[in-house]
Amino acid sequence: MPTSDAPVDGLQELLPDAHLITDPGVMDAYRRDEAHLVTPGDPLAVLLARSTEEVSAALRWANKHAVPVVPRGAGTGLAGGATAVDGCLVLSMARMSRILDISGSDQLAVVQPGVITADVDRAAAEVGLMYPPDPSSFETCTIGGNLATNAGGLRCVKYGVTRDSVLGLEVVLADGRVVNTGGRTVKGVAGYDLTSLFVGSEGTLGVITGATLRLRPRPSVPPVTVVASFPSLRAAGQAVSDVVAAGLVPSLLELLDRTTLRAIESWKGMGLDDDTQAMLVAQADGVGAQDCATALFRAFEAAGADFVAESSDAAEAAHLLQIRRLAYPATERLGRCLVEDVGVPRSRLPEMIERIERAGAEHDVLVATVAHAGDGNLHPTFVFDPADSADGEVPDRVWAAADDVFRAALELGGTLTGEHGVGALKRRWLGLELGSDVIDLHRDIKRALDPRGILNPGKGF
Ligand SMILES: Cc1cc2nc3c(=O)[nH]c(=O)nc-3n(C[C@H](O)[C@H](O)[C@H](O)COP(=O)(O)OP(=O)(O)OC[C@H]3O[C@@H](n4cnc5c(N)ncnc54)[C@H](O)[C@@H]3O)c2cc1C
Repeated sequence: MPTSDAPVDGLQELLPDAHLITDPGVMDAYRRDEAHLVTPGDPLAVLLARSTEEVSAALRWANKHAVPVVPRGAGTGLAGGATAVDGCLVLSMARMSRILDISGSDQLAVVQPGVITADVDRAAAEVGLMYPPDPSSFETCTIGGNLATNAGGLRCVKYGVTRDSVLGLEVVLADGRVVNTGGRTVKGVAGYDLTSLFVGSEGTLGVITGATLRLRPRPSVPPVTVVASFPSLRAAGQAVSDVVAAGLVPSLLELLDRTTLRAIESWKGMGLDDDTQAMLVAQADGVGAQDCATALFRAFEAAGADFVAESSDAAEAAHLLQIRRLAYPATERLGRCLVEDVGVPRSRLPEMIERIERAGAEHDVLVATVAHAGDGNLHPTFVFDPADSADGEVPDRVWAAADDVFRAALELGGTLTGEHGVGALKRRWLGLELGSDVIDLHRDIKRALDPRGILNPGKGF
């Protein structure tokens, strides 16, 4: 990890009008993200960047003085990717939050990285389009953070993840050079696909200062929503596998387990039945929505649902989606949380669910699971009492349960992380998934783009 003896005054002189924070009390708000289990370091300074030029100058300075740089969006990340390291410059992109262009004719948006994700979708709606990627955090997270983590979301089961909605990027490299990748065309194969390389690179290869995003036609009628409760989590998982195998393409297919539902009910009183073991919320939109919804209804019944209902009412749909979006904050109220993010081929969902339940039981850890089930992406959250470990760290039995879950996902042909990223939390397992040759390739790419290793050190790999 680079160390620095660079006086921050040099940066202030370089950028006299920049908003540079050095007061430790104020900087405290920029030290961590939503991965509360990662211990943050003490930054040297925080730059609230307002332009690509400021970012470029800051990186030139940091590269010269070997100052680590931690790019930051809204800090909603769940893997510790935006956690400060000692002596770093936190580069907050939150003030670069303008939507520069919405083109109805080209179906695209040109945005700065600090724009809030839901704002892009709202702006697209004004011209009859939508920006599909909608992480549960879409009202607070930024496009830059979404790009850097290749975020998923609820609608991704039909419309793809963030990578599928990017046409081009403006990126500032570690040495301060500004490069553009891709462009405004839907197709384009000139050179290597560097856009895809930067998407999902967790701030370790460059700082994204602009993006051209692909928009899609917005369905003109409200989606049809289907909700079902199941006698077991496994039965709900089987229903999802059946839906995928039948070739149905819902626009949303989310799963919540009983622990999560009870946490939401006791916090917000949403009218959820205390006996529900697992719930699926599905939607179908666009052409053929009603047929798809009817087929989903039948598939849930056939998989043993004890209750299924369908609705085209927008308020009811919003209520159900609100329940899903409350899952994480509600679970957080049960204790300290290690939020996980495994993904498996969708035919293996029932087995993965069984392995998660087994890991919780064997290691005596409370597990609350929600899933972007239609994508095979599960979020088992391990809940524990901080008093359970002498040093306040994650108790060994929690890591043991997480370790079992990671290994199970890999055994089933899956991945350690479907959307949250490796960040600071999952580095020790990455070699198991990627293997040493691919890790070496990562090192070579990192060395080529960031030879001094200043960009988000200690994150990713
Ligand atoms: C309640 C809740 C629900 C969530 N639901 C989802 C979900 O459904 N799907 C999902 O994918 N995630 C979800 N997340 C996780 C999180 O919201 C996403 O990872 C999101 O993409 C992070 O965006 P951010 O702006 O907060 O980025 P940050 O947390 O600030 O940063 C995330 C990573 O991106 C890097 N980064 C940020 N901006 C830039 C930039 N401009 N250039 C280069 N690197 C940058 C950071 O260094 C860090 O590595 C959820 C989080 C919460 C708290």
